[in-house]
Formats: sequence, C-alpha cells, structure tokens
Amino acid sequence: MKLLRNISIRRKITLIIMLVSLVSLTLAVSVFTFTERTNARQFAVNNLQTMAEIIAANSKAAILFRDNIAAEETLEFLKYQDNILAATIYGPDYEQFATYTKPGMEHKTPELHSNADNTLFWKNFIDISNTITHEGVHVGHVHLRSDIKQIHDHLSWHVIVALLVLFASLLLSFLLSERMQHIITDPLLLLSDIARKITTEKNYSLRLECDSKDEVGNLMCDFNEMLEQIQVRDKELELHRSELEHLVTRRTADLELANRELEAAKHEAEQIAGKMEYHAHHDALTGLPNRSLLIDRIGIGLSHAHRENSLAGLLFLDLDRFKIINDSLGHAIGDQLLKVVAKRLESCIREDDTVARLGGDEFMVLLPTIEKTSDAGYIGKRIIDALNEPVICDGYELNVTTSIGVSIYPYDGKTTDALIKSADISMYRAKGLGRNRLVYYTAEMNEESRKRLMLETDLRKALDKHQFELLYQPIVDTRKNTILGAEALILWNHPTMGIIPPAEFIPIAEDTGLIVPIGEWVIRSAFGKLRNWNDTGHPRLRIAVNLSPTQLSRPGLISVVEQAIDEFQVSSYSVDFEITESVAIQNLDSATLTLEKLKKLGISISLDDFGTGYSSLSHLHTLPIDTIKIGQSFVKNIPDSMGDMSIAQAIIAMANSLDLSLVAEGVENIKQMNFFRQQGIYVIQGHLFSAPVPEEEFMQMLESRTTLTPLNIVK
Ligand code: C2E
Ligand code: MG
Ligand code: MG
Repeated sequence: MKLLRNISIRRKITLIIMLVSLVSLTLAVSVFTFTERTNARQFAVNNLQTMAEIIAANSKAAILFRDNIAAEETLEFLKYQDNILAATIYGPDYEQFATYTKPGMEHKTPELHSNADNTLFWKNFIDISNTITHEGVHVGHVHLRSDIKQIHDHLSWHVIVALLVLFASLLLSFLLSERMQHIITDPLLLLSDIARKITTEKNYSLRLECDSKDEVGNLMCDFNEMLEQIQVRDKELELHRSELEHLVTRRTADLELANRELEAAKHEAEQIAGKMEYHAHHDALTGLPNRSLLIDRIGIGLSHAHRENSLAGLLFLDLDRFKIINDSLGHAIGDQLLKVVAKRLESCIREDDTVARLGGDEFMVLLPTIEKTSDAGYIGKRIIDALNEPVICDGYELNVTTSIGVSIYPYDGKTTDALIKSADISMYRAKGLGRNRLVYYTAEMNEESRKRLMLETDLRKALDKHQFELLYQPIVDTRKNTILGAEALILWNHPTMGIIPPAEFIPIAEDTGLIVPIGEWVIRSAFGKLRNWNDTGHPRLRIAVNLSPTQLSRPGLISVVEQAIDEFQVSSYSVDFEITESVAIQNLDSATLTLEKLKKLGISISLDDFGTGYSSLSHLHTLPIDTIKIGQSFVKNIPDSMGDMSIAQAIIAMANSLDLSLVAEGVENIKQMNFFRQQGIYVIQGHLFSAPVPEEEFMQMLESRTTLTPLNIVK
C-alpha cells in the first residue's frame, strides 16, 4: 500500500484499470471456459446416451433371445464412432452378453452390480451404463465408454483462445487506459503544476481553464476560486505586511532612539552612581577618603596586621584654631586652607597609607604597616613640619598648626573603634598640652576619658540636683578702688569629686548642649543676685555674665534674657555679657545679630580673654562690643615680657582708637596693675583685689566697704 502511495496517479489509474480489466476478463474467460466445458460434456453425455439408448433398443431382442451374435452385430456399428472406445451389453443378471472394443484398444469390461443408470467421468473418459427394459421389465444393461480427449483438446484450444483474447483485451485496456487517463490526469497534473508554480513563484494570479463540468472541472473551478481568495488575502496581507514593516521600521527607529536614550541614561546613571559612590566615600571639599571609607580601610588594615602579626598606626589630627581662621576670614579661605592641608598631608604619607578627612578640621592618617611604634611618630612629625610652612590664601599668610594623637595597633586598641577612640583621646591630650604637637596614647589617657564620660553623666543631673553655684569676682576701679561690679563665675559642687572648676566642665557642657540650660540658670541666678544687691543699697552695681558660643547660637537666648530682666526687674544697663573671641567668630553673622539684639535691650558686650593667642583683630570693629577684657594668660607675663607689653600697648591703643573700654583681668600684682594704670586702664579684675567668692562673701565686701584695697597693699 505504501508503494502505491508513492507512484504517480497515472500509474495508479492504469493499475486500477488493468486490475479491473484483468479481474473482469478473467471472470469472463473462466465463465466461458466453464460453460464451454459443461456444454461439451453435456453434449458428449447426450450423444453417448442416445447411442446407449439405440444400442439398448437394438439389442433388446438379442438379449431376450440370447442371441449373442446379433448383439455383437448391433455393437459393430460403433466402429464408425471414433470416440467410442468400448461397449458392453449385459444380461439381466449382469453377465456380459456382448462386447465391443475399439480396435487397438485394450479394454477390460467392468463388472456391473446395479441396474441404475450411471454416468461417470474419469480421466479422458465417460462411462455410461443404461438399463435395457422390455415392457417395463429389466432385461439387461448397456455400458459405453467414450473418449472425451477430443472434447478436452477442443476445450483447451478454447481456453488458449480465451486467454489470448484476455491478453489482447488487457493490452487494449492498457493502451486505452494510457490514452484515456489523460482525460483525468492532465487537468490534475495541470492543477499540480499550477500549484507548484504558485508555491515557488507566489504568483496567485495564475488560473486554470475549467471547461469541463465533471468533478475535476469543479475542483479546478474551486481551485481558481481559492486562488482568487488567496490573491485577495495576499493583497491584504501584502498591505498589512507593508504597514507592519512600516510600523516595525518606525518602532525600530523609536526603539533605537529609546535604546540610545536608555544607553545614555544608563551611562549617566552609572556616572552618577560612580559619583555617588565616590561622594559616599570621599570628602567633597578635599577629595580625600571620608570617615566611612577610612573605617573600611582601618578594618582591612587591622585584619592584615593581625594576620602578619605586625603593627598599624592611626594618627588623629585636629587643626589648631582653624575655626578662628574659618570664621574670621570666611569659609572660602577656610576651604582653601583645608585643601592645601589635605595636599600637604598626602605628600607626607606612602601609597599604602590613607589620609582621610572626618569633617571640619579633623583628619586621620592610617598607617596600615609600620615596623615600630616610632614610625608613626616619624610620620606625625613630618606632618607637623609640613603644616608649619605658612599657607598663602587670598593674600593672607596663614599659620596653621595641628595637634596629633597617635594610637598603635594592637597596643592601644584591637578594634577600629578602640583604635580611633585612643587616637582621639591622645589628640585631646595634645591640645591640652599646648597644641602643635604629637602625643602617643597611654592607658592613663583612657582613664581621663572615662572620667570625662562620668562627668558628662553626672553633669546631666547636676542642675536638677542644685549642684551649681555662682562665685562673684569683683571688678574694681583702681582710681578709687571702688567695686564697680562682679563677674559671675560658675562652680560645680560635685557630690564625690568636690569642687569642679568651670574650665573642666564647661567644655563638656558645650559639647553636650547642656550649656544651654546651665547658661539659663546662670543668667537667672546672676540677675536674681543683682536684684538683691540693688535692693540692699547698691543700685549702680554691675554684673558680668559669661556666655558660651552655643548659647549665643541658640535662638532662645533673647527671650530668656528678657524674661529674666522682667522677672527680677533689673536694669539691663547694669549687665555685661562676656563672650570669648571664639564665641564671637564661630558664626559671625548670627552672633552679630544676637549681640545687636542684646545691645538694643541695653546690655553691654565684653570681649573676654582677649589676646590669649589666636587673636584676630579684624572682627573688633565688626562685632558690636563695648569692652575688651585683656586675658589673664596675657597679663601674667607683664611686666616680664617686653613683647607682651608692647602687644598690650598696641591692643590698648587700638581699643582706644575704636572707643572701646578696657578691663585687665587676672591682675595678680601691683606691677601689673601699675602697668595698666600707666596705660590708662583703671578697671581691674584679679586676685590682687579678690578671687571669685561666694555671694555672702561678696555681699560682705559690699556691706563693709564698696572700695577694695589690693590685697598686697593691705598687708
Ligand atoms: P573668664 O570669664 O575669663 O573668668 C576669669 C577666670 O580667671 C576665672 O576662672 C577666675 O577665677 C580667674 N581669675 C580671676 N582673677 C585671676 C587672677 O588674678 N589670677 C588667676 N590665675 N586667675 C584669675 P574660672 O572661674 O575658673 O573660670 C574659667 C572660665 O570659665 C571663665 O573665664 C569663663 O570663660 C568660664 N566660665 C566661668 N563661669 C562661666 C559661666 O557661667 N558660663 C560660661 N559660659 N563660662 C563660664
Ligand atoms: Mg569672663
Ligand atoms: Mg576672662
């Protein structure tokens, strides 16, 4: 069947016609042959029957009369019958009566045992036996044997002819089918051809001629119809395709554009991410690594040192008095200075080291691999020397120094935090020791820092526990030794540590912001006392109150002062607020604004501790101040230091020219007092007259004498 599927339709049709023809012709030949054979046999049987009947009729008398010879003669005529091979006449008892055998033939007479009429075909013979009756009585039998070879030969010949006819018919059918099948296959082949062409050329305009009305003709018409529809669809498709192509081209262009934009955005985002990453880890001003990157690097450095069993050093740097430069000369110059400092720091370190800016004027240098502790000191010294070179910014020659604290891994800390903390503590110690120096961390420093932490904790509760006290130091006019007023100085009565001077806890209070409530308490207490003094007959007495930078920067100060004035009904003209230079210049603009508001209330402003080193005279005329207090650290070298004396003279001259009052504080001896008196400074504050004393004592001073005698003169 599979084979059939693969052969052409023509062959299939031919095969079908041939098969049909073969079957039908074979059937016809078979039927013909069978009929012929049957007819021939029947004919032979009929002949033989007739002959047997003739013999029976003719031999009847001979049998009845037992006349063998007559019977034999009867049979004699058979010799003219070619096909009769033998004949036998039997008597009533089946005994042979007469026989005939064709000359040249051997014949054995068959035995008969029944009187039935019989016809028997065997090989090329027919045997017939017929009963001979006379008046209805069985008198004998006749048996004939005929040769039917002739019939068979005749039949064979017929079969051969039939077969020849069959073959001829088949041949004819083949030829006819070959010719006729074109009627069916040609249109089909044409159809197939067209279909193939359409497939290969995609030409749907091709059509078939469908002139016949048969199935194939219908098929072709349907095919044409289908092509028609396909062509319409094809056109529509073509239209859609071109629309689609157009759309795709447009979309592709859009996509390409979007892609390009995306790419650009991606690039930009990457750049931004890179920048963000950079900014996240670098200081915007100097480009140095920032705290977070430094902490990472310290972590890595410490792991490395731990593995290698080596040392690592950490330097904590804080520029000395940078704030003053920044505030007095402006942030732009401060920034320039920081950049120069950063460059100089970088020039002092090796590639493996890291210098980072933590913010403000704080820097840190990580030395991840040092051989000995002194290596860190060596680098630190190099940094100090490098910074000692003056920096020129915008025409200003700036001298910047730094205090450096050093901690060494693993001695001063095994973790990043511990190492930073140790370096930080030692940096503070370097500041405390006079700045512009390097200090190695020691375990005792930690004790100090612990103490500071403890103080901080206690300080938070001190106000509620009423542990603060104000002392009053008289301010004296030396012309008549009269008490002009007093400076209120705070004191902390610590329950276990005893009296703690302001220099120890005010910085902590400032760092923690506690200075604001403490400062408020000071203002209210001082104003309260002033009220007392006014009430006890000293209406012209003045009070000086120290203000911290933090207080000045907080917006609530003015209302606190106004409330206090209101509450205690004191004259604001009796009040001096003392600010330090650093107070004034930390935030010059807002400080000036606040000070001007205070001045509007009638309060005088004094610039405290003037000349304590980091002087910037420039803000003297920008700040709304009335008085300059020449600082104790300055005064103490008078009259021994000629340099300090001439500076003091210059300051006094300048203050005079600016019409500012002057107070010399920290005056301990007559020489100092005389020096100032010679300069025309008569208002003095210092141990020469009195140390800061409790209120009662100050009251006693006021009660007993409003004039004060210098202590050494008293003696
Ligand atoms: P200051 O305002 O300059 O106060 C003068 C300081 O010099 C006082 O130290 C005083 O005891 C000391 N002194 C006065 N005369 C002499 C002297 O003849 N020789 C020596 N060696 N010292 C003298 P004190 O009380 O320890 O105060 C230190 C600083 O603490 C003050 O310096 C002031 O800046 C600050 N302070 C004190 N009380 C307060 C306060 O209530 N608020 C704020 N913000 N700061 C305060
Ligand atoms: Mg003061
Ligand atoms: Mg002072």
